[in-house]
Amino acid sequence: MDIHRLIRDVPDYPQPGIVFKDITPLLADSAALHHAVEAMSAPFAHANIDLVAGIEARGFIFGPLVARHLDVGFMPVRKPGKLPADTTSVTYDLEYGSDTLEVHSDACGPESSVLIVDDVLATGGTLAAARTLVESMEASIVGISVLVELAFLEGRAKLDGIVTHAVVEVD
Ligand code: AMP
Repeated sequence: MDIHRLIRDVPDYPQPGIVFKDITPLLADSAALHHAVEAMSAPFAHANIDLVAGIEARGFIFGPLVARHLDVGFMPVRKPGKLPADTTSVTYDLEYGSDTLEVHSDACGPESSVLIVDDVLATGGTLAAARTLVESMEASIVGISVLVELAFLEGRAKLDGIVTHAVVEVD
């Protein structure tokens, strides 16, 4: 199935020069959504994962679907200040400024095998930060799964040593 045609390019969003990969047409198509979730999950079906970590915001769409497909739990990786209990956080550099990701401090630990999920791998900064965060909690990262990889940005280089799977690669 060609799901690529259901990922819409929106030029100059959220700022001039960015071509935004809009996944909402894919989400609206039940067969394509089913295929996408299956394709994101399949490489990790026998990897003994016990948690999927999904990154806010669009990792909250695919993360729980992948977790359900793999029959494992889900842990939200959130923007700062959103989680109610004790948190562990990581701050990382952006092109301009910095950003922070947080998880509940009891969300995972040395006994956990975690698959990290997001919609798009662009420069890799977000996924690299999520990796640092999960590793700081001494959990094992089994891999990273994304729907779309913007290969020309070479974000994969920041994820060295982690199995990284993308369903659709954009050059
Ligand atoms: P990065 O840290 O550069 O890899 O950016 C990844 C995060 O930003 C992901 O959570 C994506 O949802 C979002 N993102 C970055 N670039 C795009 C794009 N061109 N289209 C859609 N989402 C994007």
